[in-house]
Amino acid sequence: MQKENQYQPETNAVRIQTARTDEMEHSTPLFLTSSFCYDNAEEMRATFADETDFNIYSRFSNPNVDEFVNKMVALEGAEAGYATASGMSAVFASFMALLKAGDHLLSARSIFGSTHTVVTKFLPKWGIEYSYFDMNDPGSIEAMIKPNTKMIFVETPSNPGLEIIDLKLLADIANKHNIILNVDNCFATPVLQRPLELGAHLVTHSATKWIDGQGRVLGGAVVGRKDLIKEIYIFCRSSGPAMSPFNAWVLSKSMETLFVRMERHSQSALTLAQALENNPHLSMVRYPMLPSHPQYEIAKKQMSGGGGIVCFELKGGIASGVKFLNALKLLSLTANLGDSRSIASHPASTTHAKLTDAERANVGITPGLIRISVGLENVKDILADIEQALEQSK
Ligand SMILES: *Cc1c(COP(=O)(O)O)cnc(C)c1O
Repeated sequence: MQKENQYQPETNAVRIQTARTDEMEHSTPLFLTSSFCYDNAEEMRATFADETDFNIYSRFSNPNVDEFVNKMVALEGAEAGYATASGMSAVFASFMALLKAGDHLLSARSIFGSTHTVVTKFLPKWGIEYSYFDMNDPGSIEAMIKPNTKMIFVETPSNPGLEIIDLKLLADIANKHNIILNVDNCFATPVLQRPLELGAHLVTHSATKWIDGQGRVLGGAVVGRKDLIKEIYIFCRSSGPAMSPFNAWVLSKSMETLFVRMERHSQSALTLAQALENNPHLSMVRYPMLPSHPQYEIAKKQMSGGGGIVCFELKGGIASGVKFLNALKLLSLTANLGDSRSIASHPASTTHAKLTDAERANVGITPGLIRISVGLENVKDILADIEQALEQSK
C-alpha cells in the first residue's frame, strides 16, 4: 500500500491505494467482509496481541476504510486517523474519548445543529460542562478558560453563517494552556485549509458533504495527533461507529476528484457572490473571499479558496425566504450540502424553525438567511435561477 506522504497532495488523493490483490486489478475492489482469516493459531494469537498489523474485524479496520483514512491523513498532514459512520459520530467520538466527568469543553457558539445538541443536551448529562464563545470576539476566549478546560472546539467557516476564526491564534491559546484544539474542517476540506499545519491537534470531518461531493453516502473522520487518535480508536473499536467498507470505497474514489471539484466549487461560488453583492433584494451577501466578509483578512491568510457555500440575507425576512425557495426551478430543496447539484436552504423556516428569533440570532441565523451550496452546474444557470427567484421573493 502506498501509505507514505511521498507525493504532492493532489497525487496522494489519487494514488494512495490498497495493495493490489493477485487479480492485478487497477481500481481498488470492495472488501465487503466482516472479519479476516489467519493461516494458523500462532498468527491469530500474534494479531490479537497487537504484534502484527493484520486486520481482525471490520469494526476495527478494513482495507477500504484504511485506504480512505490514509488519504485523509495525508491530505490533512496528520499523524493518524479513524473513519466513522457519519460526521456526527466523528465529532461525538472526539468528545467521548477525550473528555470525562468534571471536564469543561469550550466551544464556539456557531456550530452545526446536531453538534449543538450533543454539547448542550448530552455532555452535561455525563457531567461534562461547556461554555460557548463568540467567534466574532476572539479576544474573549482566553478569559473563558477554566482549570478543568480540556478541549476547544470550533468550526471554521461555520455552518451556516460562514463565521471564520484565526486558527493560529486559537492554537496559541490552546497550547499555552495545554488544551486540545479540535477543528471541524467540513466546510473548507483539506484542499482549502489544513488546521493541523496551523497548530490544531485534531480535525473532524463530515465526509458526507464535499468529500463525497455527490450526495450519496454518509461518512466521517477524525485525524490528528497520534496519542489522541489512539484514544479515539480505542473508544470506537469498542463502541462501534465504524465506517462501512462500501461507503469508504465510494468516498475514496470521490477523493480522487476532490481537488478539481473544490477548485470549481470555489470559483463558481465567488462568481455568484460577486454577482449578487449589489442585488436590490438582498441586505447582505457573505462569502469568505469577499472583502466585505468581516473576517476576510483571516480567510485570505488561512484558506486557499472560499469553498462552495454562499449565504445571503433577503430584505423580506421569513416570508421572502419561503417565496424564494418556492420560486427556484434548478436548485434543489434538500438538507444536504457539498453536492455536484446546487442546493438552497432557508434555516429559519426549516432546520432552525423551532427556535425563537433570539435563539436563532444567537447562532447567527437571521430570518431571511439563505444558504446556497454551489454545485458543478454552469454558474450562469445557477445565477439565473437565483436571480429569477429573488425577483419573485418580494
Ligand atoms: C453535516 C455536518 C456535520 C455532521 O455530519 P454528518 O455526516 O451529517 O453526520 C458536522 N459538521 C458540519 C459542519 C456539518 O456540515
